[in-house]
Amino acid sequence: MGDSHANVLLIEDNPGDVLLLRASLDEVGGDPFTVIHVDHLAAGLRRLAEDGIDVVLQDLTLPDGNGLEILRTLRRQAATVPIVVLTGRDDEALALQAVQEGAQDYLVKGSMNGHALARCIRYAIERERLRTELEEARDQALEAARLKSEFLANISHELRTPLTAILGFSSLLRRNHHGTCDVRQLNHLERIHQNGQHLLAMINDLLDLSKIEAGKVSISPEQVHPGAVIAQVVDTLLPLAANQDIDLEEIVADGLPTFHSDPIRLHQILLNLGSNAIKFTHHGGVILEARQEGDTMVFQVSDTGIGIPAEALETIFDEFRQVDGSMTREYSGTGLGLSVSRQLARLLGGDIEVLSREGEGSTFTLRLPLAGAKPTAATPAAQRLQVPV
Ligand code: ADP
Repeated sequence: MGDSHANVLLIEDNPGDVLLLRASLDEVGGDPFTVIHVDHLAAGLRRLAEDGIDVVLQDLTLPDGNGLEILRTLRRQAATVPIVVLTGRDDEALALQAVQEGAQDYLVKGSMNGHALARCIRYAIERERLRTELEEARDQALEAARLKSEFLANISHELRTPLTAILGFSSLLRRNHHGTCDVRQLNHLERIHQNGQHLLAMINDLLDLSKIEAGKVSISPEQVHPGAVIAQVVDTLLPLAANQDIDLEEIVADGLPTFHSDPIRLHQILLNLGSNAIKFTHHGGVILEARQEGDTMVFQVSDTGIGIPAEALETIFDEFRQVDGSMTREYSGTGLGLSVSRQLARLLGGDIEVLSREGEGSTFTLRLPLAGAKPTAATPAAQRLQVPV
């Protein structure tokens, strides 16, 4: 905190208190403050309008104003000038209320020596400066988040359009070759199609993320049978597991009830967890499980794969985070699947947790309330980022 000169606007109608304050500040020496004194709120407001005031010392009773109203009026006029409230010994409660309403501090009249008073004034100025800086940084972060979401939404939309054409034409060629393609060419077509599908899945993740951030994902709950969703997901994952030569098993507890949730979102989450489990497993297998625990429907995806280091267990749920994010990494992916899945799980009224041991495997657990998801939209990033300063 610098010791530069500060202009103090003192709004006080009691001449005795004014003299005492001036005398206390004189004790400090070195002339660090210029005290500009007025005895009415209206005069204080006029002086504030002229700029150049670094801090206001304000009495809580004035001839033309009373209590917190004075503070509110001052803050409306000069929101970034720090205010220190002057109070008598018996109204500290009111002074505390003033601090809650935005005053930087309060001083009990007659109880401070000059040095303590000077320190209080300096701290008030410094705190206000930091508060303004924080507010600016928060606004910048919110704007950056908004721009990022907008960019993600636009870019994923732009990428999907040509990719859909590539996928459409490659399927057409695969179906209608009529002997015009030899085996090698068909193999190439198959690869174009597979890679296109993979790219589309990644772009869809990006699009989902941008929709979640913009609060545009809505939930459409209906009666869902957990066993049916698991069976569908396993069906989709079987070729992937066969390709990696690992076992894929489903365990669905007997007599599970249907519950109220969004089957499409649930399918998406389990597919994400399941394909990760297969991707990161070289030996052994993956199990998809559904069971009921009290009033919660529990879905579990466990694998005997590479596991996750303890220090990465929380960060893997952050956007774009991967345990190995280097350019030379062994596993492909965008680092969005878990982030999207967790946010969807929360929209469904539940959450995802992970337990893992490096080299032994991982278990992702999705818990959803049996009572069901409410048809809601996501909270926009702008609101999630809103931090009080
Ligand atoms: P992606 O799989 O596209 O990289 P995700 O958000 O789905 O992105 O996962 C983030 C990271 O979490 C992965 O890159 C990987 O490091 C780790 N991870 C996720 N699931 C598993 C798993 N079953 N076993 C080991 N690591 C995993």
